[in-house]
Amino acid sequence: MKAWQEALLAWYRKHARPLPWRGEKDPYRILVSEVLLQQTQVRQAIPYYRRFLQRFPTLKALGEAPLEEVLRVWQGAGYYRRAVHLHRLAQQVEALPQSFAQLKGLPGLGPYTAAAVASMAFGERVAAVDGNVRRVLARLFALEGASPKALQGLAQSLMPEEAHPGEWNQALMELGATVCLPRKPLCGACPLASRCRGKEAPERYPLPQRRKVREERLAALVLLGRKGVYLERLEGRFQGLYGVPLFPAEELPVRAEALGVAPRLLGEVRHALTHRRLLVEVHGAFWEGEGEDPWKRPLPKLMEKVLRQALPLLAHEGVVPLPHAKPHGVEPF
Ligand code: SF4
Repeated sequence: MKAWQEALLAWYRKHARPLPWRGEKDPYRILVSEVLLQQTQVRQAIPYYRRFLQRFPTLKALGEAPLEEVLRVWQGAGYYRRAVHLHRLAQQVEALPQSFAQLKGLPGLGPYTAAAVASMAFGERVAAVDGNVRRVLARLFALEGASPKALQGLAQSLMPEEAHPGEWNQALMELGATVCLPRKPLCGACPLASRCRGKEAPERYPLPQRRKVREERLAALVLLGRKGVYLERLEGRFQGLYGVPLFPAEELPVRAEALGVAPRLLGEVRHALTHRRLLVEVHGAFWEGEGEDPWKRPLPKLMEKVLRQALPLLAHEGVVPLPHAKPHGVEPF
């Protein structure tokens, strides 16, 4: 092993953050942590990781649970498609296959997640390259504009024979997550500083990706009935979850007329998705039907925001009692 590789591993053993999945060998538990970390910050992911594994300690337990319950346990972690994929995977296989090639074909497992599980749980020599690793390598070798594919190949060629592939992958990722930060990397504390070619101008590598973000104006219609709120099952990215009707803002008059209600504007909610910024007008009305307690259903974050905005205002009118059950992670009114 080269001196810089030894230095990185020694640094990792001493400085790695003590996370609940650190040193984990159970492929299912590794998978859950990696799927959570795909779009959730480490600090936020920890309570969800614990809660999810407490309720679904094995792949079998997950596969036997109804999707709605899985989504309820996932509630608040966001990006629900991840939970839908995990559930589908658990129904598809009895045990996780032991190779990168087989793992890669399973629902929700891209090359990165498959490589992370294969290297950490099964010791396969395959580089797990996420954004952190790409940034570290681009700086280390001063590779301006290197393609993800080139960086993947480089990562693979750098894996030392003598190191455990899972530990090596985690060491590179940890360096990117805690020292080689996107802005203002802590080069003074970096074990690779003496051989880093990019440290004079680290923010040049790799070039930031510009993402187009679309703005969209929507309307949410909160209908308060005799026993709670009118909810419907959502489709598309929120499949399996529940919410109030949501549609393009200009459709409000037609929708209100069809339902025979006269809504009024209660406020606005902003919500950011990966490629869209939503500005949601929140409209509310009393309604002839019964409705239900929304906090007993799995709701996407956007719907939680809408309901938190609308329900206190509607309930103040005192016409109907407000459903009071407190969902996990949501403040009471
Ligand atoms: S020296 Fe700085 S830029 Fe280079 S790898 Fe370390 S933290 Fe990143």
